[in-house]
Amino acid sequence: MKDNKPLALQYIRGVGPKRAEVLASAGLLTAADMLRYYPRSYIDRNTVVTLAELTQTLRRDTLFSNDSPKLSGDFSVKNEITVVARISKIRENSYGGGSRSMMIISLSDESGGSADMIFFQMIHYFRIAFKVGMLVVVSGMPEYEEKFRKVSFHHPEVLKIDEEDEELYKEGKIIPKYKITQAMKNVHLSMRHIRSIVEEVIEQEIPKLRETLPSPILRKLSLPNIREASRMLHFPDSTASVERARFRMKFEELFFFEMMLALRKRGIKVMERGVIIDPKSTRARGLLDALPFELTHAQKRVIWEIATDFQSGKPMNRLLQGDVGSGKTLVALFAMLMAIDAGYQTLLMAPTEILAEQHYHTLKNFLEGSGIEIVQLIGGQKAKMRRDIKEKIALGKAHIIIGTHALFSGNATDASRTVDYHKVGLIVVDEQHRFGVMQRAKLRDLGIRSHVPDATPTLPISPHILVMSATPIPRTLSMTLYGDLDISIIDQMPYGRKPIRTEVIFESKLDTTMEFIRSEVRNGKQAYIVYPLVEKSDKIDLKSAVEHFEHLQHEVFPEFKLGLLHGQMFWYEKDDAMRAFKNKEFQILVATTVVEVGIDIPNATVMLIENAERFGLSQLHQLRGRVGRGGEQSYCFLATKDHFRFLLGKKEQEASERKASIIRLKTMEETTDGFKIAEVDMKLRGPGDVMGTRQSGVPDFEFTDLVRDFEVIEIAKREAFALIDADPHLRKPEHEQTRIEFLRQYAGEKGYFDVA
Ligand code: ADP
Ligand code: MG
Repeated sequence: MKDNKPLALQYIRGVGPKRAEVLASAGLLTAADMLRYYPRSYIDRNTVVTLAELTQTLRRDTLFSNDSPKLSGDFSVKNEITVVARISKIRENSYGGGSRSMMIISLSDESGGSADMIFFQMIHYFRIAFKVGMLVVVSGMPEYEEKFRKVSFHHPEVLKIDEEDEELYKEGKIIPKYKITQAMKNVHLSMRHIRSIVEEVIEQEIPKLRETLPSPILRKLSLPNIREASRMLHFPDSTASVERARFRMKFEELFFFEMMLALRKRGIKVMERGVIIDPKSTRARGLLDALPFELTHAQKRVIWEIATDFQSGKPMNRLLQGDVGSGKTLVALFAMLMAIDAGYQTLLMAPTEILAEQHYHTLKNFLEGSGIEIVQLIGGQKAKMRRDIKEKIALGKAHIIIGTHALFSGNATDASRTVDYHKVGLIVVDEQHRFGVMQRAKLRDLGIRSHVPDATPTLPISPHILVMSATPIPRTLSMTLYGDLDISIIDQMPYGRKPIRTEVIFESKLDTTMEFIRSEVRNGKQAYIVYPLVEKSDKIDLKSAVEHFEHLQHEVFPEFKLGLLHGQMFWYEKDDAMRAFKNKEFQILVATTVVEVGIDIPNATVMLIENAERFGLSQLHQLRGRVGRGGEQSYCFLATKDHFRFLLGKKEQEASERKASIIRLKTMEETTDGFKIAEVDMKLRGPGDVMGTRQSGVPDFEFTDLVRDFEVIEIAKREAFALIDADPHLRKPEHEQTRIEFLRQYAGEKGYFDVA
């Protein structure tokens, strides 16, 4: 076999054309691909739970309070549980009047315990796949039912263990768990097959692996090299070696990611010139004097941080984090005034039209009589009006231009591409979590183009960028993940703001809450009632907003006017609904989660969230932030089912994931600190869901868990930034492979290497 020719899998023993096709559909085309198809986890006999232990623990969790004595072999059923057991019985039952069937597969193991797997779907497949006597690995969230004194897994992940695995398992070896897709199962490709394919190719493929990490780093951190790591992952000899290998893989993923951030940060600083803005601004001073309240310390600190950037000669690239209502917009306004007084135009972009419009009115209010011209670029403007606005912008007569993300980044139909801006000094982006890294680059370009190059063109002139976010990401994590941005945090609420009173209530008490809402509305206040879903779904029995809107309007609050807002509405319908609510055209807004982040309706003082246990805590926090925006006391009620009552007061550590989410509602009663809430939430749901990492440009890592592997992130960041400092273009011969690998992963970042 020639070394440089990739080996087609079809010719490997036991594969053949049909299986090769299935493997190809999973992206596995060559022997090299197989080598990179690393096990996702491992079965280590020592850590597998027996069915007897599982039953005992679940029974205790369900029946007793936390302070019951610890049992031997104690563990907590918080995460997914894996058991290895034999199929002892297979039954099918029908339900729903005989129209549907379910399959119950009983398991037993040497501990003498037992459990059931229950399947409602794909029964046809399971009928063929499972036989009595088969040894299987079952992973899932088990439940315990006292009535039957039985543990059950609903639709767990099941992997068949072949004879060979069974031998390994009996010997106490660690068995790698590969991801087996349904298509693979269909052609009877099992974990054992994957392992034997890897076994076939490993000796030939391993020598071809190129080390991409610089050797001083490998030595310093005692990381196994790529060849060792690859072997350890596929054929582990101990848990410790698996851990070492996995650490290396995590480090590698993060190292290249952090290198991208380091390059980007450095690239902008080296390749572009920032406009110089003198922070001594008459208008900023004027605004400060006119404010009816005192800026918080945090606000002052952030303004000072921005002012420092303004004078540095380098473009600012700053993330401003602060809880909803912490006064970010005002900070941005001060920065804008400094830029305007220094002779520059400023842009403010919002995620939606309604928020753009809100900013427009807020700023107009603050800036009355200041001689500052604010214009709005929004959809649906008449051609003549649009023309006038564009002219004002091009001539530099407009000082502040407000629009939506879509408009500025050129996703909308007409718009920014045809607008000539005039000396843009500062771009403010509100709610960055919907705003990716690419758009930021586009914005910078737009700003750069608005400057006429001067006589001695050295570097392009780049605007300062300030991104604001109310998505509370724990500080440590954001500093690492947004390594290319400097970070400012407003960690303090305006003085005199009354914290929102939050209460977890049960549905049987809803009447009282409705009465409370009635009395608030009678006093001229407004209220939100939030539901998790729009249309009624067969699967999950959730109250639908539409249905309940009808019910609430006609049965509960016939004397008030109610409005409806849900995700299936067009954006302009949503905007209309929000606008009408803001204008007090109705008193109660029944909504799904689409209520905008950052919408400012100070007159709304009550929020009721139904099925609150269905939401993540961060989401609840964001929703809750819609009230409590004025000086009045505001209230938030989190409704959940009565039968969850017994859970409150328990410790979440002792409960299953689903139950823990109910217990965690208590966190909302205890704190209004978004960062604290985010931390609790991330432990539960992972950072991807909390931050929307996909949009924020963080890749999906194969090995890294962004919460648990925080230490690895820090180390990778340190090493990557140090490397870019020492060899910014990776020109040294010993960095050749690192450079090649980086460009393979982050091809778009090439430009930063080419700077002289
Ligand atoms: P954010 O954008 O951070 O959610 P905003 O900037 O919209 O918050 O501020 C919320 C409200 O608080 C606004 O009405 C704003 O005028 C007001 N505000 C801002 N800073 C202060 C302060 N230091 N003291 C009192 N009120 C403030
Ligand atoms: Mg805001």
